[in-house]
Amino acid sequence: MPEGHTIHALAARLNRTLGGEQVDVSSPQGRFAADATLIDGRTLDHASARGKHLFIHFDDLADLTLHVHLGLIGSFHVKQRSEEGTAASPPRLRLEGRSHIAELRGPMICALIDEPSRQTILDKLGPDPLHAPDVLADGAGRAWARISRSRKVIAELLLDQSVLAGVGNVYRCEVLFRHRIDPFTPGRELGRRLWDSLWDDLVALLPLGAAFSQILTMQDQVDAAAELVGDGSALAITEGLTGERLGDHFERRFHTYQRTGERCDRCGRRIREQVLGGRTLYWCPGCQRRRKR
Ligand SMILES: [Zn+2]
Repeated sequence: MPEGHTIHALAARLNRTLGGEQVDVSSPQGRFAADATLIDGRTLDHASARGKHLFIHFDDLADLTLHVHLGLIGSFHVKQRSEEGTAASPPRLRLEGRSHIAELRGPMICALIDEPSRQTILDKLGPDPLHAPDVLADGAGRAWARISRSRKVIAELLLDQSVLAGVGNVYRCEVLFRHRIDPFTPGRELGRRLWDSLWDDLVALLPLGAAFSQILTMQDQVDAAAELVGDGSALAITEGLTGERLGDHFERRFHTYQRTGERCDRCGRRIREQVLGGRTLYWCPGCQRRRKR
């Protein structure tokens, strides 16, 4: 399932490739055909992301915004017009600009919504570590207000989009491991400083994930990615990746995610899995024991 960093990366990509352009809008698959005619030929002003929600704003469309949520299986590929098309199913939504085409397939949501509806969606979301205003306005404290009152375990709370927006299953498993946190710690038993260190880590990790459209949690890869972002070369790398090649600059490696039965790279115990919060949690029972500090 695409996590928040994917959606933020997608918004940035749409802005770079189609922002400010008149776009031809269609629904080859048909289910968005009526609404597509309302947008067709308008200028794509900008795209924005909050948590796992994508919003695309067009000029002269009253107060309507295109709302997309990819859900579990959705994909939104942006490619150059000259690229070969894959033999995939007809897209729900196609945006065509001068040089690029964006195709949306299998989304959970693709709808035109008015501003009050958009506000309702935003109001239900917890702070997004990738949304600078949330970070600056004590996002850590806002999320903590919910976590510190909850009997639910931290591994479940991290997936609750009303507590924290954007974190999905891979990040939850990996950041809990990075901080040696027992995933079964009830929110109200978690130490505040431990939470703050976890939040700070998400604030540091997610922009790297968005920059490369790839989840990076292994420290050697995190350091390498931070260097490429710092010296400005990250953009050139990701601009060269389009369509289905997004997010393959770094080798796909994780501490715990989908490593059930393999040895922990920190303590040697075997990684375990259990369904928690509707998704499979992966953790190390040997070194993930912290609850308070
Ligand atoms: Zn371990």
